[in-house]
Amino acid sequence: MAEVDRSRAFAKDVRRIVVKVGTAVVTGKQGRLALARLGAICEQLAALNSDGFEVILVSSGAVGLGRQRLRYRQLINSSFADLQKPQMELDGKVCAAVGQSSLMAYYETMFDKLDVTVAQMLVTDSNFSNKDFKKQLCETVKLMLKMKVIPVFNENDAISTRDAPYKDATGIFWDNDSLAALLSIELKADLLILLNDVEGLYTGPPSDPTSKLIHTYIKEKHKDEITFGDKSKVGRGGMTAKVESCS
Ligand code: GLU
Repeated sequence: MAEVDRSRAFAKDVRRIVVKVGTAVVTGKQGRLALARLGAICEQLAALNSDGFEVILVSSGAVGLGRQRLRYRQLINSSFADLQKPQMELDGKVCAAVGQSSLMAYYETMFDKLDVTVAQMLVTDSNFSNKDFKKQLCETVKLMLKMKVIPVFNENDAISTRDAPYKDATGIFWDNDSLAALLSIELKADLLILLNDVEGLYTGPPSDPTSKLIHTYIKEKHKDEITFGDKSKVGRGGMTAKVESCS
């Protein structure tokens, strides 16, 4: 069994960090942006950036924010008679496109106040089967990091050719946990941090009082001990994807 460093002393040699924030972290009640939480995360990332760490952010939340904005717009443009009819189902790809620009506008505003420059990077899973793409991606990100720019990645859901609700038969990733893991490998990151709305990985659903928090996950030891509960209703990854992306 692999030797496990429970002290996390390895972190002292870390320079390049990929941080992933999921929809449950980015948004709060009714799909609105969780401003205070996200502001605190931006402050911490800005501090790491100015301390000489290279920070790469992977952020979900576009679909949730877009859905919230489009619903609101639908509502204010509806007559009383319209509201009696069943509401039109919103297309996830349109929500992603609408929400992505809002999401970046928030990051831009918050990081700008912290004197940090950000850059939007949208990718799809099919990009990663192209060697030239991967080479260019690494070169561009390297140049950004050299200039202390924080790249903010998301999957380009609006033009991704997978069918809703994002089934993945052939692709390499289908959620941002897997995207973050893939980027960590391609960009040779020293550390991948998947931020979540629970304390960590439990042996069962966190809502079950008999579930125990696992300090350090060791695949050989824990993989048969864990029962995954339902994933959060927002976002696509969930704990299963988080564990798989780290394995
Ligand atoms: N790309 C999606 C978004 O921005 C989220 C994907 C995921 O939840 O992993 O909303």
